[in-house]
Amino acid sequence: MKYCSTRGQEKNLTFEEVLFSGYAKDGGLYMPEFLPNLSHKEMEQWSKYSYPDLVFAVARKFIDEEEIPSSVLNDIITSCLKRFRIPEVVRIEKLVGGLNIVELFHGTTLAFKDLALSVVGGLIDHYLSKKKKHITILIGTSGDTGSAAIEGVRGRKGIDIVVLLPSGRCTMIQELQMTTVIEDNVLVYKVEGTSDDLDEPIKQCFCDQEFVSKHNLISINSINWGRIMVQVAHYFFTYYQLCSELGAPVQIVVPTGAAGNITAGCIAKKMGLPITLVATVNENDIISRTIDKGDFSMNSFVTQTMASAMDIQNPYNVERLIYLCCEGNVERVRKIMGAFESNGKVTIPVDILQALQEIVVDSIIVNDSEITTTMEKVYNENKYVLCPHTATAVYYHHQRNSDVTRGFIATASPAKFPEAVIKAGIDPITDGVDHLQYLPTKFLWMRKGEDWYSMLRAKIENITELRNRKV
Ligand SMILES: *Cc1c(COP(=O)(O)O)cnc(C)c1O
Repeated sequence: MKYCSTRGQEKNLTFEEVLFSGYAKDGGLYMPEFLPNLSHKEMEQWSKYSYPDLVFAVARKFIDEEEIPSSVLNDIITSCLKRFRIPEVVRIEKLVGGLNIVELFHGTTLAFKDLALSVVGGLIDHYLSKKKKHITILIGTSGDTGSAAIEGVRGRKGIDIVVLLPSGRCTMIQELQMTTVIEDNVLVYKVEGTSDDLDEPIKQCFCDQEFVSKHNLISINSINWGRIMVQVAHYFFTYYQLCSELGAPVQIVVPTGAAGNITAGCIAKKMGLPITLVATVNENDIISRTIDKGDFSMNSFVTQTMASAMDIQNPYNVERLIYLCCEGNVERVRKIMGAFESNGKVTIPVDILQALQEIVVDSIIVNDSEITTTMEKVYNENKYVLCPHTATAVYYHHQRNSDVTRGFIATASPAKFPEAVIKAGIDPITDGVDHLQYLPTKFLWMRKGEDWYSMLRAKIENITELRNRKV
């Protein structure tokens, strides 16, 4: 499989090349040059696979055997997923009333991002160990990405990771999961701004090609193809667990922020999986407006909500969705994204919107009080605690009846969000994270008014210099 940029200037890249980069050089995102269509026979074979088997089967479609042989690929995947807290890695909790909760949060940091980031960490490590090269991972987070990325690479040789988190906008536990890591290859900045604010200096760093290649700078935000690829397996797993018979439709409801997860769902559908998708969002509603009426426009500011991992204004994976829905017409992607980048808004052309709506068939905006009411209702009826993000998906179920079988993507454990759990009138659960508050912390500040871009550049230069001296 070869890869190309959504904006057309790069083609014929290997998996390794796209794994080790962030944005494409033309500002686009990387996509496979085509999407493999599963045969009926494969569809049937895959239905018997465990979750790790499915990750392998999906990855095998997108990484050539010559790049990573099957036995090695399988070892990487199984060793990364072995660290999960339940042996089956992912499980589905079937509650009354057709509420099938797809628990993707049994990794170390208790959010679904552990699934993709642990495997991406393993893949990066695989290539690096062959090359004796040093890289710096640069990543911004709205809460969960940072800790999952740190967990994927902490203590690994040849990798430094720099994480920017929006101070006061994550939960205390999310922040502690990042600031209590003391390994010297991990550097965390608390930034006085929103998660969109801190994306700016990061994007600026990645736009400087010379800087990127000098420092082997890479991103593992969901702009990284490796993450999207691993996430495709969520949808196959969910489908096979829930379908009444092979070929019967299943609807999967996805709490959505930067739209990496739902993009993976769209790819699974394009590979032949008979699913439809629903995107649920909090009051940061850009995705919902885009899907409903093609109104791809930013609000004037980020609203802080209880589902903080979805407090995002610029869902950068929409670019991949547009690419998928215009049959890879790069001229059109360039035009649409160009307009969005200059004006902060653009209307998605009708034919592309219709293609998108055939996959993502509905969306809903859920406010904080609807989130807590949903958490309370599900708790009262089932004694089951939802995280506030997952609650947005379940709220959809309470609003829209349907005969179709539905799965609800549970993106995080409620233990990460005690503030919301308490607001919902439920006793908080700790799930092994309460010890964090007793650990020492380590982090740096980026204060309002400082030049974050220059600070970040200087720090990255400093890291490379230090590592080169050690070699
Ligand atoms: C990251 C995250 C999301 C949003 O996922 P995207 O792929 O960015 O749409 C939703 N819920 C939780 C708990 C998350 O950590």
